[in-house]
Amino acid sequence: MQFKNSLEFAQQLDAEDKLYNYRNEFNFPKINGKPVIYFTGNSLGLQPKRTKNYVDEVMTDWGNLGVEGHFYAQKPWWDYHEKLAAPLAKVVGAKPEEVSVMNTLTVNLHLLLVSFYRPTKKRYKIICEEKAFPSDQYILKSQVRVHGLNAKDTIVTIKKRSGEHAWRTEDVIAKINEVGEELALVLIGGVNYYNGQVFNMEAITKAGKNVGAYVGWDLAHGVGNVDLKLHDWNVDFAAWCSYKYMNSGPGNASGVFINEQYLGKEDIPRFEGWWGTKKETRFLMKPEFEPMPNADAWQLSNPPVLSVAPYLASLTLFEEVGMKALIEKRDKIVAYLEFILKEVDAVVESTFEIITPKDRGCQLSVLLHGEGKSLFNYLMENGVVIDWREPNVIRLAPAPFYCSYEDMYRFGQILRKGIQGGL
Ligand SMILES: *Cc1c(COP(=O)(O)O)cnc(C)c1O
Repeated sequence: MQFKNSLEFAQQLDAEDKLYNYRNEFNFPKINGKPVIYFTGNSLGLQPKRTKNYVDEVMTDWGNLGVEGHFYAQKPWWDYHEKLAAPLAKVVGAKPEEVSVMNTLTVNLHLLLVSFYRPTKKRYKIICEEKAFPSDQYILKSQVRVHGLNAKDTIVTIKKRSGEHAWRTEDVIAKINEVGEELALVLIGGVNYYNGQVFNMEAITKAGKNVGAYVGWDLAHGVGNVDLKLHDWNVDFAAWCSYKYMNSGPGNASGVFINEQYLGKEDIPRFEGWWGTKKETRFLMKPEFEPMPNADAWQLSNPPVLSVAPYLASLTLFEEVGMKALIEKRDKIVAYLEFILKEVDAVVESTFEIITPKDRGCQLSVLLHGEGKSLFNYLMENGVVIDWREPNVIRLAPAPFYCSYEDMYRFGQILRKGIQGGL
């Protein structure tokens, strides 16, 4: 499609957009009395209006029922989390039994590594991407220490080639084959938080499993953003948070995927708690742990209902729209944003560069050659919510659920004016 940098054209794209009205399902912050252009759905998704009803329902039931709410609330609390598995499984390409919701992301990755990082004398190394998200780096280093190993000899990072902004799949696979029989685990952020790159999860999973390693994915930036087929790709495990593209609110509950081949097993190492044992016998309070037949075996505690409720609210939106339609709009709106950025760049003469590769989801990362922080501040003051990553990158994620083509056009106008006016 031939794009045009005009208000009329942007509005025409909005008129043709089947998801356009979903904007009205979300609450937008305002700056100078006007709804913002929100580019930070990759950091904290906007609040769906329906979420308040889900939370209010729990509050009302708690007020009216007290402890009885566990079994008699409108949505009983004791198995509230089970309602999320089926819709969430569709989002990540899994069977419902392979998916569970619990804790938060970093906690879940640690719990999953109890099961999937079991170094032996011969097979103990971990492969991850260089400059992984800090929490992931801390997870791996501290796990390695718990096993009495040291990070330097154990964690192998995949580097980008010099002068390049993205990782190459062939380099990841070559490294996996090189480490070979010493490789215990591959754990990578499936969509990189910094450059927005989508890794070839299928090929990398295959390569890792071929050499006998476990392969897991941190999908914080992947879930609700890109097409995932965790089951078909034969991924061992994955985890993600729910507050980025999943719009479930700050610090909210995390989802996990555990391949069905590990379900219903008593012999897999796992940190266990009473919500992981079979629900039929749970309240007999027996000393023996009998794992739930699904990913819920990894549940430790009774579900944090006030945190799971917003996630359920958000999933109803994903159920209505489906990943296919979201991805279709995502590709078009990101392409339009890229077009707008290039138009501005041509006028202001190369003050920035898009470093996100073609394998991308919703995010464009823009490396600024000049203005830096002052441009960031100018945009924020003018109603454009973006984020900043050191040393000189702004990240723009036009989430397809609630961003419009007109937003992209208006953003281009604000950006050009700012740069031309010397900010
Ligand atoms: C956002 C993000 C996290 C955040 O972890 P929390 O435990 O939810 O604070 C972790 N890893 C990656 C790759 C992320 O993008």
